[in-house]
Amino acid sequence: MKSIQHFINGTIVAGSGSRTVPTYNPATGEQSGELSLANGADVRAAVEAATAAFPAWAETTPLRRARILNKFLGILEDRTDELAKVITAEHGKVHSDALGEIQRGMEVVEFATAAPQLLKGEFTENVGTAVDSWSMRQPLGVVAGITPFNFPAMVPMWMFPVALACGNCFILKPSERDPSAALLIAEWLKEAGLPDGVFNVVQGDKEAVDAILADPDIQAVSFVGSTPIARYIYTTATASGKRCQALGGAKNHMIVMPDADMDQAADALMGAAYGSAGERCMAISVAVPVGDETADRLIDKLKPRIAALKVGPGTDPDADMGPVVTAAARDKILGLIDSGVEEGADLVVDGRGLKLQGYEDGYFVGATLFDKVTTDMKIYKEEIFGPVLSVARAASYDEAAQWINDHEYGNGTAIFTRDGDAAREFAHKIKVGMVGINVPIPVPMAFHSFGGWKASLFGDHHMHGPEGVRFYTRMKTITSRWPKGIRSGAEFSMPTMK
Ligand code: NAD
Repeated sequence: MKSIQHFINGTIVAGSGSRTVPTYNPATGEQSGELSLANGADVRAAVEAATAAFPAWAETTPLRRARILNKFLGILEDRTDELAKVITAEHGKVHSDALGEIQRGMEVVEFATAAPQLLKGEFTENVGTAVDSWSMRQPLGVVAGITPFNFPAMVPMWMFPVALACGNCFILKPSERDPSAALLIAEWLKEAGLPDGVFNVVQGDKEAVDAILADPDIQAVSFVGSTPIARYIYTTATASGKRCQALGGAKNHMIVMPDADMDQAADALMGAAYGSAGERCMAISVAVPVGDETADRLIDKLKPRIAALKVGPGTDPDADMGPVVTAAARDKILGLIDSGVEEGADLVVDGRGLKLQGYEDGYFVGATLFDKVTTDMKIYKEEIFGPVLSVARAASYDEAAQWINDHEYGNGTAIFTRDGDAAREFAHKIKVGMVGINVPIPVPMAFHSFGGWKASLFGDHHMHGPEGVRFYTRMKTITSRWPKGIRSGAEFSMPTMK
């Protein structure tokens, strides 16, 4: 049985915590490893290693830091397949999807290799007579990232490449459900030349998270996960003066206008609703066709596509969709499907009871489609995080947009239409952080920033891109005058430009 441990100060360590939890292969339901859970002393050891490494790393020029990240990028490129296999084994997603998440993470590393450019400050000559002023961005110190199960490589890569490029030391607390990718990443960063202590991994659950939140030497916390935990992380971290960005859950709607290309819309919905078994924070879980005729046409297009969708273990190159992550996740999803039936939604395709030959104990849920879902139903209000698409029929564009604006979550949304006016109105007025126009999963590229609105993000900064640089640095502004320019005599009024 594989023992999965921590990575502190450049070495894999067992830690002093005595608690462990099993990891599973979601396709077979078999235990694949035993994960050590960090206690407060283990977190403290990581903080001390990071604190000791910080002065030298902060003084390392941005160019040198960028070169290490560049080497790391090369290693990732060469070994993408190896990392993808580790992800599939613990998360369950199909291999091509794991490759995709690594690719999106690598783009953030690529972005961070522009550190010398990203950290350039501003300079104004002569803000006053013989007075110059400039601002610079300096690292915060030791920062931490707490990440969810659904992107065990990409979400950490939203955070640490930018944090490291800016001169911070990083402590990653990955999900206890798929913890191995983080360790490979740590080893490859070391191989790329990252000094010991600059990047550390502590495995664990609430105990490790609470130790991170309580540690006075951690300056900032980045979190991605479910909304109740995001809210808890944000309030706890900021109460002790830490900077915090906490990204939460989602319920992403896609409006389908009567003039949309219905084949395109149906294809887009298939990937966006069922890709990664719906376990994406940017998955579309609610389709909102405008008008009954549009809805009927859409359902007619979706049904044969769902029938053709192949569910299988993530290692099967022909599978479109793998299992969900744990037995508990499967049971929660099945319970929510039951509730949809009980509340009167029209179950068009039922994914319950799916058993795959040879994988009878795997955590599989078939693609599920509900029609005539209404906004008071549990399956509409709650994040299901599984392969369940709800069709909620709207009478008009205004009604569809109102539902989106009224929803608790505001992560992503999309509209499919050929009407430029409707698309512009949607982009301009909708209360959601990431918007797609004929793009179902509008995840911003690495050089833009990622983040939702409402209960999908607590904090002021989105992740990666320019917002990431702002989050992981603090600004200092210097005003200087040399003796030649100094007038004699003290001045007691507010300094103004003369
Ligand atoms: P989760 O909230 O259960 O766990 C996220 C992290 O928090 C993990 O590292 C976990 O160990 C830790 N954690 C869990 N319970 C805790 C507690 N009580 N106290 C302290 N820490 C705790 O989320 P998950 O199930 O791993 O991931 C799925 C969720 O993440 C979904 O809600 C999804 O929408 C969300 N997500 C959001 C985004 C986004 O960008 N907004 C991206 C990916 C995932």
